[in-house]
Amino acid sequence: MDLVKLDIPAPRYTSYPTVPYWENNLNEDLWKQKVRQASEQYGAEGISLYLHLPYCESLCTYCACNTRITVNHAVEEGYIQSLLKEWDLYLQQFTGKPIIKEIHLGGGTPTFFSPENLHFLLKRILSGATQHEHFDFSFEGHPSNTTHEHLRVLNTLGFKRVSFGVQDFDETVQEAIHRFQSFEEVKNAMDNARELGYRSVNVDLVYGLPFQTEATVKDTIEKVIALKPERIAFYSYAHVPWLKPGQRKYSEKDLPADAVKRSLYNLGKQLFAEAGYEDVGMDHFALPGDDLYEAAKKGNLHRNFMGYTAQHTHLLIALGASSISDTWDAFAQNIKSVEEYQKKVAEGKFPIMKGHALSEEDLLIRAHILDLMCRYQTGWRVEHRWEELYARIAHRLQAFVGKNWIEIRDNSIYIKDQGKPYLRNICLAFDERYWNKIPEKQVFSTTA
Ligand code: SF4
Repeated sequence: MDLVKLDIPAPRYTSYPTVPYWENNLNEDLWKQKVRQASEQYGAEGISLYLHLPYCESLCTYCACNTRITVNHAVEEGYIQSLLKEWDLYLQQFTGKPIIKEIHLGGGTPTFFSPENLHFLLKRILSGATQHEHFDFSFEGHPSNTTHEHLRVLNTLGFKRVSFGVQDFDETVQEAIHRFQSFEEVKNAMDNARELGYRSVNVDLVYGLPFQTEATVKDTIEKVIALKPERIAFYSYAHVPWLKPGQRKYSEKDLPADAVKRSLYNLGKQLFAEAGYEDVGMDHFALPGDDLYEAAKKGNLHRNFMGYTAQHTHLLIALGASSISDTWDAFAQNIKSVEEYQKKVAEGKFPIMKGHALSEEDLLIRAHILDLMCRYQTGWRVEHRWEELYARIAHRLQAFVGKNWIEIRDNSIYIKDQGKPYLRNICLAFDERYWNKIPEKQVFSTTA
């Protein structure tokens, strides 16, 4: 594969190795052991907790998340009981009370759940844990159903950050992706959050959606900028209809061509810069003063299954169907089917579907990819046993040197501004063990 091409399939590297390449070399006993060890080794720094709340009332056709569509809110209580039971399984492995540094509610639509049920769930979790002095709690809110009460209740539990999915305000685009929220709904949700004391609001936007043009994207971005969210995530749409059949509601000819898609990204980047937002890692922009911006400036940015974060923790416990936990030397993903996940938890078993225990080489490459994704640079000390590996990496990197996208000096590489759009490609040069094992079907979006 030609690594310097912009439109090759490549992982977004929220983990290394990426999920399709996991070797499934982890059973329940080994997972328990990994959790115990990580709790002993990293417990004092605090843990991250991700809660996957999979329900949505209607399907947005572009969606690549693991969701369950229903309007039956009776499912809330049973699901919450499963999450708490799973959390109890983890509590049995921890050495002492866990210190929680980060909580993130994702989905699905966390605000599908009533404020009372979210309060019950979180109160139960927090009552058995200690909160880190620099804790950071956040959630994803759908602008159409995040009520003042949701925001208030979560705020009383320490939530100070919220992320609203907007994607695009254009009516034709919204119709195609079957996701509707007006500017007024988004403004109202953001006003409520600010009034209650949320200190950071993120807005998610997507480029490359069906029927988007420079004019529609410009209009959406200008409206969002007028609301001054502290952070904006500007994601590339991943067209994977073989994995997400909902995306068949439109056809490929409705999507902007690659060159147009690139120009949409460049347009966004330019508009964000003009409005004072700075680039903080792939796809993310933040205003000075926001935690993510400060972390990027200090070189403390971190990346995990939740995306970029200002908190660096080694142990991430993820509860709920399809969620992925990380003990730093092992990953485990939960069963995707909600019913099977609940059944397994009810039996008192970890509901793991697949996992991967990292080898020494995996850990080495993981550190480099994390450095590149968060700091646009990485360096190494060549130990004898890794000499050949680094020689091969250096050889592959020459293609990027030739393009003047990176500089290599003293066993370190630095990605130049013009090389930043090729960040995922540059990571591929380090990922020799897995990247060229082509899966049976294409599973990654392209880097364009
Ligand atoms: S985009 Fe969000 S709200 Fe829409 S179906 Fe996916 S998870 Fe649910």
